[in-house]
Amino acid sequence: MKPVVIFLLAGVILFSCNQESSKSVSSDINQLAEKYVRLALDIGRYDSSFVDAYYGSDSLKPTNTKNEIFPKDSFLVQVQELQDAFSLLIKEKKNDTIVQRANWIKAQLTAFGRRIKIFSGEYASFDKESLELYGGTAPIYPESHYQALVAQLHTLLPGKGSIPERFQLLANRFIIPKNKLDTVFRAAIAKCRKVTREHFEIPANEDFKLEFVTDKPWSGYNWYKGNYQSFIQVNTDLQIFIDRAIDVGSHESYPGHHVYNMLLEKNLYHDKGWLEISMYPLFSPQSLIAEGSANYGIDMVFPGINSKVTFCKEVLLPLAGLDTSGITTYFQALEIRGQLNFARNEVGRGMLNNTMDSVTVMQWLKDYGLMNEETAKKSVRFITVNRSYIINYNYGLELIDNYMQANGGDATHPEKRWQLFGKLLSNPVLPSDLMKLDK
Ligand SMILES: [Zn+2]
Repeated sequence: MKPVVIFLLAGVILFSCNQESSKSVSSDINQLAEKYVRLALDIGRYDSSFVDAYYGSDSLKPTNTKNEIFPKDSFLVQVQELQDAFSLLIKEKKNDTIVQRANWIKAQLTAFGRRIKIFSGEYASFDKESLELYGGTAPIYPESHYQALVAQLHTLLPGKGSIPERFQLLANRFIIPKNKLDTVFRAAIAKCRKVTREHFEIPANEDFKLEFVTDKPWSGYNWYKGNYQSFIQVNTDLQIFIDRAIDVGSHESYPGHHVYNMLLEKNLYHDKGWLEISMYPLFSPQSLIAEGSANYGIDMVFPGINSKVTFCKEVLLPLAGLDTSGITTYFQALEIRGQLNFARNEVGRGMLNNTMDSVTVMQWLKDYGLMNEETAKKSVRFITVNRSYIINYNYGLELIDNYMQANGGDATHPEKRWQLFGKLLSNPVLPSDLMKLDK
C-alpha cells in the first residue's frame, strides 16, 4: 500500500481551478469524502474484511488506540451523521457531479450500517441484507424453474445416471494437472490482457502477481494494491477445471477486477482527486458492480460459446496436456449451469432465513448447482462467511447484461459494447443506475 500524495495534490489543483462557488462545494464534498474514508479505515481495524483495497494516503489511517470492544453504536452514529451531511449536499443540488458523488457515497454508507450490525451479530433476512449492502434484491425462482433448466441438460450430456453425475463425469475430462496450472493460467491471462488492451487505454506500468494458495473460502481473489498493481490468488483446494483459467484471466484480471480498479484509480482518484475511490469497502454496492462487471467481462473477451471453445481447443487444452473431445458440450452445459447459479441464492436465502436445513442445502447445491460433495461444502462455507454477497455474481451480471443490451452494447456491436463497458468501469455507478438508459 503506497500513499499517492503527488496525484492527490494534482486533484486539489484541479478543483482549485473551478469557479468560486463550485470550489467551496467541492471542498465540502472532499472533506466529507475524507471522513468517509477515515471511518471505513477505522471500522476495518476491527472487521478485517471490511476494506478490500485502500491505496490512499497513510495519513488517513487511524492513529488513536483501538477499543477493546467493537464500538458498534459509535460507528452507527458516525454513519448516520455522514449520511445526513451528504443528504444536505444532495438537497442543495449545486452541481451534478457533487450530487452523483454524494448519492454514491450515501449508498455505500447504508452498506456500512448494515455491515456494522452483521459484524456485531445483528442479522436480518437475506433480502434485507442484500438490499442494504449491495443495493439490490435478487429475483426468487421456484424449484420448478431449476428443475426445467436441469432437464435441458438431459439431452445434452453424455452417459447414464443422474444429471449432476453426468455433468461431473464430463467436467472431470478437463481438470488441469497441478503442474500445468501456472502455464495454463498465464496463457489465459495474457490473451485477456491483449484483447482488453486493444479497446482500453490502460496505464503502462500496470501489472499483476499470480499465486496459487490453499485453505480459502473462495476459488479466486484479486487483491488490488493501488498504483495499477494486483495480486491475484487462485485457490487450489479443489480440482481446477479448464474454464477456471478463462474466468481468472477475465473475471479477476482483464477486463475484470484488475482493470476495474485501475480505471477507477486512474480516472477518478488521480485525474479528479476523488478521495472516496481510494478505499473499496467489500460489503457495498460497489461489489455488485465489481462482480457483475467482472463476470460480464468473460463474455467481452470471449463472446459466445464458440470463442471459448476455440481458445480452449487451440491453446489451453494442449498446454494442459488434455484431450479436446467433449469441450463444446462442456461449455454448452456451463452456459446452463450459469443460469442455475441463481439456485445458490435460494440456498443462501434458506441458510440466512433459517428456512432450509443442512441436508436440503447440500441437495440443492448438488442437484441444481451441479456441484460435487467437496464443492458444495466449499459453497456452504462461502455463504456462511460472506452471506448475501453471492447475489453480486449472478444478479450483478444480469443487471449489467440488461444495461448493456438496453443501451445498444450487445455482442453484435462490439465497439459500442467496449465503449459502454469502459464507461461503467470508470464511474461511480450504483445498481439503481443500471436500470436507467445511458445518456
Ligand atoms: Zn470477483
